[in-house]
Amino acid sequence: MAESRVQQSRSRDLDKLLLRPGNLVAPTFEPGVQLRDDLQEYARILVIGAGGLGCELLKDLALSGFKNLEVIDMDRIEVTNLNRQFLFRLEDVGKPKAEVAAKRVMERVSGVNIVPHFCRIEDKEIDFYKDFIIIVLGLDSVEARSYINAVACGFLEYDSDDNPIEETVKPMVDGGTEGFKGHARVIIPGSTPCFECTIWLFPPQVKFPLCTLAETPRTAAHCIEYAHLIKWDEVHSGKTFDPDDPEHMKWVYTEAVKRAELFGIQGVTYSLTQGVVKNIIPAIASTNAIISAACTLETLKLASGCSKTLSNYLTYNGVEGLHIKVTEFVRDKDCLVCGPGVLLELDTSVTLQKFIDMLEEHPKLLLSKASVRHQATNLYMQVPPVLEEMTRSNLNLPLFELMGKVSKDIIHVTGTTSKDDKKTSCLRKLRLVFKGADVVTDLDMAGGA
Ligand SMILES: [Zn+2]
Repeated sequence: MAESRVQQSRSRDLDKLLLRPGNLVAPTFEPGVQLRDDLQEYARILVIGAGGLGCELLKDLALSGFKNLEVIDMDRIEVTNLNRQFLFRLEDVGKPKAEVAAKRVMERVSGVNIVPHFCRIEDKEIDFYKDFIIIVLGLDSVEARSYINAVACGFLEYDSDDNPIEETVKPMVDGGTEGFKGHARVIIPGSTPCFECTIWLFPPQVKFPLCTLAETPRTAAHCIEYAHLIKWDEVHSGKTFDPDDPEHMKWVYTEAVKRAELFGIQGVTYSLTQGVVKNIIPAIASTNAIISAACTLETLKLASGCSKTLSNYLTYNGVEGLHIKVTEFVRDKDCLVCGPGVLLELDTSVTLQKFIDMLEEHPKLLLSKASVRHQATNLYMQVPPVLEEMTRSNLNLPLFELMGKVSKDIIHVTGTTSKDDKKTSCLRKLRLVFKGADVVTDLDMAGGA
């Protein structure tokens, strides 16, 4: 009895959104108890990351009525997480974040089921991600976002007029925080820009020009970087600086203080020195809470249609006062990830091995060590060794035959690509067209009929 009262009061605010009509609702929105119950019963949401943002997201989604959640995270809990990753306690240190976070939310919010996955996002089969209606990202790395974005956009198919096919659209809600700043965005592949369309939003890390550091330092960070990048090498010829060695860090700090005194600059502290050198930006619990709330609301709107979604990028800035703004970015029509796919024209005689070699040389792709998948079939897998051995014999066969002699189709390849001298794993969707294959297909079909 007490239980159901708790449930009732918890769904009170939700009911205002889901049981009543509105002016800003999606065309498919049908308010009512049925919608609320279906949402709770059938909507499966995946949260990626169980850190500062992930903890908030799991709690918020559970309290917003979602009952089927899963969470994936590869990290274990550290002491320094405890101030903001509020689902963790001192006795949890060393345990997987995903498992503890799932357990704690289930203890506190009755009726919710959260399945934890303690692994890397790349360890999951691509099809694992297909089962969720929405993927919510609480990540702190550009690479991980890029990967999940490519996976979700990889499901997207276009019809013959190049319009996205509704059933293949896998929406994402992406949150991110950095100190007092944060963002929440809605990515609907094929309609709104995907992560890759606006990759320029994540510029490479700011590096101070060496001349500023050497001649005209203006901030505490300049003094620290001077000690770290210039003075260290001058004094310790050949010895590499180790950011994890406290003696090294103390030396940089002492030198930075001297430098700051020379130029009359305030603010050099030991913790700032660590922050600048290791490029640590402090995580702020309230920023996580605000961004998570925005992401959860967007998830609810996407899942239920109870209101228009954010269009499409919200930025939050709490550095001085408070500033929130929404920007509508546009898609990059030539995007390799969310577009219809790079078009490749092949001869029917091209073997799988030759095809894999071509991917490496293709100027747009530059994809090495490719694994190739057609529909649900692995044509060639680089790893694990068992699968490599099983699929190796395909390498000498014509790709055209391996794909069932269709004249054109979509194929998915995963591999590594280098960007700015850094290797990253990536997934690409390719549109293959076999030259002169139409005739063969027609004959085959005639034969079959
Ligand atoms: Zn894109």
